[in-house]
Amino acid sequence: MSTYPETVYSAPLPDLADPLTAPHWAAAREGRLAVQRCASCGALRWLPAVICPECLTTGGDWVDLAGTGTVWSYAVYHRAMNPQFKDRVPYAVAMIELDEGIRMVGTLAEVDGVEIGQRVHATYEAVTADVTLVRWVRD
Ligand SMILES: [Zn+2]
Repeated sequence: MSTYPETVYSAPLPDLADPLTAPHWAAAREGRLAVQRCASCGALRWLPAVICPECLTTGGDWVDLAGTGTVWSYAVYHRAMNPQFKDRVPYAVAMIELDEGIRMVGTLAEVDGVEIGQRVHATYEAVTADVTLVRWVRD
């Protein structure tokens, strides 16, 4: 896990006060990849949701995943889609198929040499004193 740099992180930050996603961000600060799990049918879900899309039960709990998976798809951005990311181009956004079976969108730590099917693992980048982002690096 890296510590946040002295320079100001200028890209958008998550809303840590949102109760739907707060457990994920709290886990990331501790170097864990946490997602929701339905208390009724056990389905894992990302993005977090109030209702399980599999069985329509409300609520659920949070579980830690291994933080490992494969690149299912990706795109390399050479122009920032949001002006707040202009200092980060080029950057790669990927759909990661986690080993537990669900998919999660995230940024890759490296742009060059990315391939579909490549093994990756989560890394945790503290970008402010309160916010730690999950990024993906090649195994
Ligand atoms: Zn369910």
